[in-house]
Amino acid sequence: MMRQFDFEKIPVVEVVNEIMVDASKRGASDIHFDPLDEHMKIRIRIDGILHNYAEVPNSIKKNLITRIKIISGMNITESRLPQDGAIKATLQGTNLDLRVSCIPTSNGEKIVIRILDYTMSLAGVETLGFSEDNYKKVLEMISKPNGIILVTGATGTGKSTTVYSILQRLNTEQANVVTVEDPVEMNIEGINQIQTNSEIGLTFATALRSILRQDPNIIMIGEIRDTETAKIAVRASITGHLVLSTIHTNNSLNTIERLLDMEVERYLLASSLEGIISQVLARKLCPHCRTLKKTNEYEKELFKTVLGKDVDEIYTTEGCEECGNGYAGRIAIHEVLLFNQEIRDAISAGIRRDKLRDLVYKSGVNTLLEDGLEKVLMGLTTVEEVIKLIELEDDEKGSKAYGLKAALSNTDLTKTTTKNNAEPKVQKKEEKPEIVTESSTKDELVIETPNDNQQTEDRPLTLNDLINRSTKN
Ligand SMILES: [Zn+2]
Repeated sequence: MMRQFDFEKIPVVEVVNEIMVDASKRGASDIHFDPLDEHMKIRIRIDGILHNYAEVPNSIKKNLITRIKIISGMNITESRLPQDGAIKATLQGTNLDLRVSCIPTSNGEKIVIRILDYTMSLAGVETLGFSEDNYKKVLEMISKPNGIILVTGATGTGKSTTVYSILQRLNTEQANVVTVEDPVEMNIEGINQIQTNSEIGLTFATALRSILRQDPNIIMIGEIRDTETAKIAVRASITGHLVLSTIHTNNSLNTIERLLDMEVERYLLASSLEGIISQVLARKLCPHCRTLKKTNEYEKELFKTVLGKDVDEIYTTEGCEECGNGYAGRIAIHEVLLFNQEIRDAISAGIRRDKLRDLVYKSGVNTLLEDGLEKVLMGLTTVEEVIKLIELEDDEKGSKAYGLKAALSNTDLTKTTTKNNAEPKVQKKEEKPEIVTESSTKDELVIETPNDNQQTEDRPLTLNDLINRSTKN
């Protein structure tokens, strides 16, 4: 991964070009230029993870920063205030569309270049990794003439890619499609895209009010962040428009609750919601070096409990020349909820959360955990990736969630972090690294001390103990 540049011989202009093109070809999403005391460090983010890329001596640092500022249209004499810029160019046959940010830190200016990559957004809804069942639900919800469709997930989970893919499918000559975004990430021909500008008062809410006077069919709102926007979105959808937006929540149930917290009236929300697509991105197994391995006891129980399947073998990874660490690219894991009358009535009536949860997950919704584990079975990703991404306590299918989370603390994976001194469950030593492969995984797996009555147990709790216990309670 590390690159050496001969700064004595190669002009800084060429070094900067080479870094941008090379990072883009490697599939990086961001390039970081970190000012340190001794030198400037360059890192690139690939599949969500930062890697060291190169070091720049302090004697070159100033020229390199100046060069980036010039080509991204920044003021090179300003170094005390943050600046934003952009680069659009074709270099060495590679199309580059870059957003550049510069901020002053106590060590000097730090630059981050975001590499925008539309290849996924342009490839179509069918390539986004939806299961067959979820794909059908998505097609059904986007075929409605009005209502709200929400794509939810944390930052960097591919929400924009999903929204842009859907927009392109809806972009026909029969439809007036208008968006209000912050920022406009990708220009789509035939769609009217509005960039918000809060400095002059062009907010999501003000733009939306005007859009409604523009005879729209389909409205895309970059993100629902506040009550005002949420309310206008709901109003727009019940007056005959299809509204597409994103919201920063992690699953269907939390999304409904967030909107209710935003003081959207229950009956309006109930009649306007058409569908919720929640997603996370997992690293995809490299097809060149993935190999099958026997499932360990914990994995067997996980598949049995969550999917009701007996699984003896799953894919794992060793890493090869092609991929380095065993993964190449990423795959989306989804939870797709298509609203039915029963769920609408329940929301309208203000039903209790646990009752609503039962209704939602009885309507044929696969949770993120279920979809993720299915993708493990398909050899697309690993159990480690799925567990790392999906906090088990967020998995909403009833009391199982609690059992799974607590049961984790009693497997060999985390036995060093629990206070339990009893014999650990039988598990071969060499299987351990396959589960906890990196520190971030470890962090997710560290379970807080079990509650009091658990500590009085003189043997490790099994998954079944916990499921039984939590169902009885
Ligand atoms: Zn590989």
